[in-house]
Amino acid sequence: MTLPRSNPRPQLRGDQNQCPTCLALFNSTAAFDKHRTGRFGDPSHPRRCLAEAEMLGAGMARNERGFWVTMLMGEAARRRRYADTSPAAIAAESPSSTAGNGIREGL
Ligand SMILES: [Zn+2]
Repeated sequence: MTLPRSNPRPQLRGDQNQCPTCLALFNSTAAFDKHRTGRFGDPSHPRRCLAEAEMLGAGMARNERGFWVTMLMGEAARRRRYADTSPAAIAAESPSSTAGNGIREGL
């Protein structure tokens, strides 16, 4: 008997990767890095994956193959309409300042 595979493993090429924690697919290491937040050893901001809604809020998007990208072409212009996503997007550009202000929890 063969079980149907609801989540077949896609073929990863180049810089594409899959998060071992949340199993999301990323088109680049930069996109993968952008979906990780928090800091190792910091109980108030533990290292974790962003939820899908948080990734979308940070300006990330999924391409036509289902891989997360840092942003789609044209997304930068669209993102300017959502002023409240700017801090997260800016923080995501500089990994050293991601923790603390990238994600506002508890809203
Ligand atoms: Zn993840």
